[in-house]
Amino acid sequence: METLVVDHPLVAHKLTTLRDVRTDSPTFRRLADELVTLLAYEATRDVRVIDVTVETPVSPAHGVRLAKPHPLVVPILRAGLGMLDGMTRLLPTAEVGFLGMIRNESTLQAETYATRLPDDLSGRQCFVVDPMLATGGTLAAAVRYLFDRGAVDVTAICLLAAPEGLAYMDKVFANSGKPIRVVTAALDERLNENGYIVPGLGDAGDRLYGVV
Ligand code: URA
Repeated sequence: METLVVDHPLVAHKLTTLRDVRTDSPTFRRLADELVTLLAYEATRDVRVIDVTVETPVSPAHGVRLAKPHPLVVPILRAGLGMLDGMTRLLPTAEVGFLGMIRNESTLQAETYATRLPDDLSGRQCFVVDPMLATGGTLAAAVRYLFDRGAVDVTAICLLAAPEGLAYMDKVFANSGKPIRVVTAALDERLNENGYIVPGLGDAGDRLYGVV
C-alpha cells in the first residue's frame, strides 16, 4: 500500500482551521470541501486517460480524455458525504456509489448498514472518501468490498490518518497484490482509548453536520 501525505501550505492552513474546536459547522464544511479538492488533485495523478486529438481553431492538437469506465467515487456515509462535492468538482464525469458504514463504538469494528453501488466494478478505478482513517476497520472493509466486485485499484482520500489505521491497512492487504493508495492531509500521532485520532479534529460527522 502506498501512502501520500500531501505537503502543501494551503493544505496545512485549511487543516489547522478544521482542527480548531472554535470552527463552526458551516466553516468546517466549506474548508473540508476545499481541502478535498486539493487532495483529489494529488490522488488522481494516476487516473486513466486515453489519447485523443481535437481541432483547435488553428490546427489539430494531441491531448487526453478520461478513459471509460469513468472512475467511481465512494463516500462512506455519513461523514464522507462532506467530501463528495469537493471530489466531483474535480471529477465531474465520475459516477458515485454509496457505502453506509458505522463504527460500533464498543468493539470499534465496522458494520455496513447501506450499499448503493454497481455490482460489477470490473475495470473501475475507485476513490473512497472518508475523513478519518482511525483504526482502519471501516476503510479496510470498504476497500475489500470494492475489490470483491472487481475494482482494479482503490485510492482512499482521508483528511487525517492515524499510524494505527495505516498499519492495519498494510497488514490486511499485505499479500493481496492489489494497488491501494491512501492520500491524506496529515499523519497524526496516535489513537486515544476511545479510538479518536490525536490531536485529530474530533468527530468529523458531528463537526460537519452537528450531533445527532
Ligand atoms: N472518527 C472520527 O470522526 N474522528 C476520529 O478521531 C476517529 C474516527
